[in-house]
Amino acid sequence: MNKFYSIAVDGPSGAGKSTLSRRCASAFGFIYVDTGAIYRSLGLAAYRKGINRENEAEVMAILPETEVKMAYDENGEQRMYLNGEDVSAEIRLPEISACASQVSAHARVREYLLEMQRKMARENSVIMDGRDIGTVVLPDANLKIFLTASSEARAQRRLLELQQKGVDTSFEQVLHDIKQRDKCDSERAAAPLKAAADSVLVDTSELDFEQSFQKLCEVISDRLNIERIEDRK
Ligand code: C5P
Repeated sequence: MNKFYSIAVDGPSGAGKSTLSRRCASAFGFIYVDTGAIYRSLGLAAYRKGINRENEAEVMAILPETEVKMAYDENGEQRMYLNGEDVSAEIRLPEISACASQVSAHARVREYLLEMQRKMARENSVIMDGRDIGTVVLPDANLKIFLTASSEARAQRRLLELQQKGVDTSFEQVLHDIKQRDKCDSERAAAPLKAAADSVLVDTSELDFEQSFQKLCEVISDRLNIERIEDRK
């Protein structure tokens, strides 16, 4: 039996997957793996090269010269490197979100990035978030969570996040972008966003961050029969 635990967290953009997964990972002593950051790094590479991101062959063609690496800093924060350059901040820009969505729609691109994600789960106890973790990347995960919230609730949260980073945008724009990305992520042929049949559905529309966190911790403790680090004797 695998000595590591794996928890898959899937759901649409802005449902709080990354913040909640990061916090849960630290509560249970797991590594948090943000798979969206991998697609974002590749999206950034494609953006910089100025290729047609909707063309699978064009995206595949830049892969041999594009090295995407994931590393953890001394605070346990995941950093992304594109050909050795730390792009962790740049990949968060709204225009790169759209690029990530475009490049991630290609089946061969997804296949290429699969091993990198699976390796993390073979070598660590992980909470991995994305769109297809429970369905494709880790179909045998010990626990699968589908985290969702209404598009309005997600847009409101994303708006706050962007404003805090000093990005000038509006609720309407953010809502539009979220709906666009939901459509792109759930209608694509390759690994579309959908809840795994054996996932636990958690809707955070009516919950604030702390309540969502407590809810997730409960699900994790109950299903995996483990305690948070602070509760261990
Ligand atoms: O999670 P995040 O919003 O950072 O992901 C950026 C984009 O990468 C998503 O819109 C989605 O298109 C893609 N993605 C994916 N599969 C994953 C994670 C992200 O297709 N496992």
